[in-house]
Amino acid sequence: MTIYNFCSNCGSPLSTNKLNVPTCASCNISYYQNSKPTAGVLPVKDGMVLLSRRGEEPNIGSIDIIGGFLEEGEHPEVGAIREAKEETGLDIKITDFLCILMDTYQVGNYAIQNTYYIGEIVGGKMKPMDDVASLEWVPINKLPLVSGFSNVTEALSRLKKWHQSHQSTSLPQ
Ligand SMILES: [Zn+2]
Repeated sequence: MTIYNFCSNCGSPLSTNKLNVPTCASCNISYYQNSKPTAGVLPVKDGMVLLSRRGEEPNIGSIDIIGGFLEEGEHPEVGAIREAKEETGLDIKITDFLCILMDTYQVGNYAIQNTYYIGEIVGGKMKPMDDVASLEWVPINKLPLVSGFSNVTEALSRLKKWHQSHQSTSLPQ
């Protein structure tokens, strides 16, 4: 959680309003604190999921989901597709919604709200880029792998359940 003591517009000390939100009386600005949104996509094919391994801190070397922080006003689906292109070079189509998970980002210790989708690869040439060291196809039945981000470990468990229910509904009657 971020502590605000002074107005970033005029520099005056902040007071709290009746909802306990830090507020600048002269600028009439309230400093609301919200979770920061991220979005990620789990591309699946033939019982496997494409995951990334981080090349930067926090959690360098850890398994991760392709994705990242949203830009202001950006829809999570659009952000997940953008991040996938930036990190993998691949064009991804969102095929299903998986889950929303809350967590704390270790750098800055602020709350994050993570939206995850299932996707499929529809184009591009795969190459690890940006904060990604490598890309790995992992059998979904081997999940969850333990990530340095607890919400990622949880999302991988959810993916396994999603995959199992997806398979059972497609079995011949
Ligand atoms: Zn002010």
